[in-house]
This record gives sequence, C-alpha cells and structure tokens, in this order.
Amino acid sequence: MNTLFWFRRDLRLFNNDALYQAIENGCRNAVFFITEKQWQKHDVAAIQLDLLKRRLHFLGELLASKGIELHIIDAADYAGCVEKIASFCEQHQVKNVYANNEYELNEVNRDKAFLQHADSKGIAFYAYDGDVIAPPGSIKNQSGEMFKVFTPFKNAWLKVYQDTHFYFAEPPKMFEPIEWQPSELLASDGSSEKWPVDDETLSHVCARFIEEKLATYQDQRDIPSIKGTSGLSPYLALGIISVHQLLALIQQRHPDVLRSSKSNLFCWVNELIWREFYRHLIAIYPNLNKYDNFNEKYNAVKWRDDDSDFKAWCEGKTGYPLVDAAMRQLLQTGWMHNRLRMVVASFLTKHLLIDWRKGERFFMQHLIDGDLASNNSGWQWAASTGCDAQPYFRIFNPITQSERFDPDGEFIRKYLPELEKIPAKQIHFPHDYLAKQGKSSSYWPAIVDHKAARERALNAFKV
Ligand code: FAD
Repeated sequence: MNTLFWFRRDLRLFNNDALYQAIENGCRNAVFFITEKQWQKHDVAAIQLDLLKRRLHFLGELLASKGIELHIIDAADYAGCVEKIASFCEQHQVKNVYANNEYELNEVNRDKAFLQHADSKGIAFYAYDGDVIAPPGSIKNQSGEMFKVFTPFKNAWLKVYQDTHFYFAEPPKMFEPIEWQPSELLASDGSSEKWPVDDETLSHVCARFIEEKLATYQDQRDIPSIKGTSGLSPYLALGIISVHQLLALIQQRHPDVLRSSKSNLFCWVNELIWREFYRHLIAIYPNLNKYDNFNEKYNAVKWRDDDSDFKAWCEGKTGYPLVDAAMRQLLQTGWMHNRLRMVVASFLTKHLLIDWRKGERFFMQHLIDGDLASNNSGWQWAASTGCDAQPYFRIFNPITQSERFDPDGEFIRKYLPELEKIPAKQIHFPHDYLAKQGKSSSYWPAIVDHKAARERALNAFKV
C-alpha cells in the first residue's frame, strides 16, 4: 500500500478532487477516524453523528464496489488520530496521504501535527480545498487582508469566479470490487433516518430543488411553513455534497447565474457565498474558534446568568409562539429554518440578554447541520458582536416577525398543538385572547415583556 486517502468532512466519492488524485496515484485504501471524545468536546449533536455513521456505511460499500477499502478506526480524539494514522502508515508502508483541508483550529492543529510526523518519515501529505470554491486567504481586499464585511467579499469572490465554468469531474478508472464489512463503530441509532444518505436519492433532491424551487427561493425562503429552501445544509456540513457540484448543477440550467448577481436565481448562490465567507473568517481569525467576540468592543456587555430563562428558551417555553415553535422544531427534527434561527438567536441574546455562546453551544448539540464556522458567525451576527454586525439597536420583535413570516400561524400550529385553535390574528401573542377565554393556563406565560426587554438590551449594549 503506497497511497492512502484520509476522509474527514468530505464524505463523498464523486466531485472529490483530492480523492480522484489519490486514486490516480494508485490509492486503494482510505481511513476515517471515529473520534467520539473529540466530538463530545465539540458538542457535535447525536443526530449529526448518526447521519455521519449512516453515510460512512453507504460510502464504505460504494468504495468497496470500486475496489477501495475504507478502514474505520477508533481514535478517541485528534491526538489519537495522529498516533493512529502514523502507525497505520508505518504498518502499511504508506508514502502518500491525500486529504481535504478543514479550517477549524483543532483540525488545523491536528494536520500540523501529522505533517510534522509525515515530514520526519518521508511521507508526502497532499491537502486540497474541496470544501470551498475559494480557499481561505485567497479573497482579499486591496490591502491584502480578509474582508470584514460580506458584500465586498462577495463582489471580490464574484470577480474571481463569475466566468468559471463549474463541471462534474469524471472519477478516474476504478478497480475490481472487494468485500467490505461495516465496522461496529458505525452502528446507527436511527435518529437521522429521515435524511437519505445514498447518492442517487441525493442527486434527485439537488436536481429537484434547482429545477422546481430555485426560481421561487427568493420569495419563499423566509416562510418557515413552506419548504422553500434546499434543506441541503446537513449534507454540505459533512461534505456529502460539495459546493462545486451544486454550482455545476445550477450552471447546467442557468449558465449565466454567476454573472447576474441581481437576479432572483442568484439569491441562493449568495447563501453559498455566505458559507464561504464564514469559512474564511474562521480560518483567518483563529480566536473565533475560541468563542471570542469578533468585535472586542462588546466584551464589556454584561450577560445575564439566568438558568431558568435559558431553560425556558431551550425547551420552547418562552410564551412567544414563534420562538417556542422554532425551538420545538429544533428539538423534534434536529433542524431549524434560517429565519427562525435568526429570531430565536436574537431573542436569547437581546430579549433574555443571555450570552450568545450558550445558544451557540445548544445549537451545536442539537443541529443535524451543526458547523462551527456558520454557527459561530450566525450567532455573533444575531448578537451584534460579530462580523458585518447589524447595529446592536436592531432587535427582532418576535411578534411582528411572526405576523410577517407566519401570518396564518401555520408553522406555529404545527409545533405548538396547544395553540391549534387560536385564530390567526391572535396566535402571534395569544395571552390576552386566552385570558378572555379563561384558558391562560393552556400556554406558557411570556417570560419577558417585549418593550422592557428591548430597553434592557439597549442599555446593556450601549456599554
Ligand atoms: P438554503 O437556504 O437552501 O441555503 C443553501 C446552503 O447555503 C445551506 O445549506 C448552507 O450551507 C448555506 N447557507 C444558507 N444560509 C447561510 C447562512 N446564513 N450562513 C452560512 N451559510 C448559509 N448553517 C449551517 O450549515 N450550520 C449551522 O450550524 C448553522 N447555524 C446557524 C446559526 C444561526 C444563529 C443562524 C442565524 C444561521 C445558522 N446557519 C447554519 C445558517 C443557515 O441557517 C442554514 O445554513 C440554513 O438554514 C440551512 O438550510 P438550507 O440548507 O435549506 O439552506
């Protein structure tokens, strides 16, 4: 065995340049390390781990059918990973290791440690940037620095890529099938069962979204009762689907999409560029990985340490229906609509004045698409401590957000059956209505008064 492929969050055979290069170089073996201790430290949600294990099962079988053996190795944490890959290389006389880069600090340090080892043993380590279109550090302002605001980043990104033709790279010639036994380490608890993991179904999901939903995305993306977004985030987070593949698919139908940044169709691509922006930030500002505020000015904010308010938020018992329905969507499905992520994050950090880090952690522990770069930046955006921060005095009103984005209360009714019979007009804040009906006890009282909470947040942030 001369060449090895090291899988991480790039769990795909197709559209994986690093893997293709490894195969061209004779690779017939790949490894994936199970690092339960590390994942616990990173608060990876059980549902995401289940998706990961199911996908590894699928991938192992797919690779075996092409003559490549996927070795699933228990390594506890990243230090263990480096030790295990070192001994694997020694045992099998590996001379070349191929992988895709990950940009979070612990992952970068893991790779530095392996590189040091590889250098000392004469092993070549080839690291690719298959998780992004633009490698971090490649999109810079005129002073050669990373942009701190999204729009100029996007414009610079487009300048580089708007004429690029993205395509599906053909995999290299593969080998005769081999036998493969799935490791016991891949046992699934079934929690992610609703999310398919096979390539055929997923390619239909992507194609259907692009054919049927892309044109209405801009109008429907903010309405949580409609399935107006792609729902692809869990797959992008684990590298099951690549952003290259998505751009190639869009360009097949809309070849000019990157040249028409004002069009409706571009709106979705814009989100993929947000994803890139956040990956660049996490790579270039390592302190974000340590949960520092991006904007140090807000280090002075005195967050409230109120366990009972935090618990009410976590359990969807704040007495604000849209917030509660959103949190129950997260608890029941492991996913939450983007508009609602903004609403509940704003509610926690502004209305309850609870540290964004607590919400960030809770999200990671429950999201099937948990992703440090997008989650950290999404939370800091909502808390106004982040990059491209909204001004701190812009505070989402959970009642008007509800009236605007769930006007008939359809989404609320789905997750709060206790409010099923409340008329649309009253459902956004049903307390007076329930009191008049003598049914106040059928729903949680509001834990804060909107106006008073707003004032409190403004005063706290003025600091
Ligand atoms: P679509 O609207 O179909 O978008 C397509 C893809 O673009 C998504 O799958 C995602 O990869 C990317 N994307 C979309 N919106 C954003 C965004 N605002 N920032 C970065 N990338 C985006 N996304 C995660 O993948 N993981 C997280 O842990 C995460 N945490 C978040 C926390 C907060 C507080 C907020 C406000 C947003 C967070 N997001 C996160 C971003 C966004 O909410 C999700 O990516 C989106 O809801 C996923 O649904 P979708 O796949 O249907 O998205």
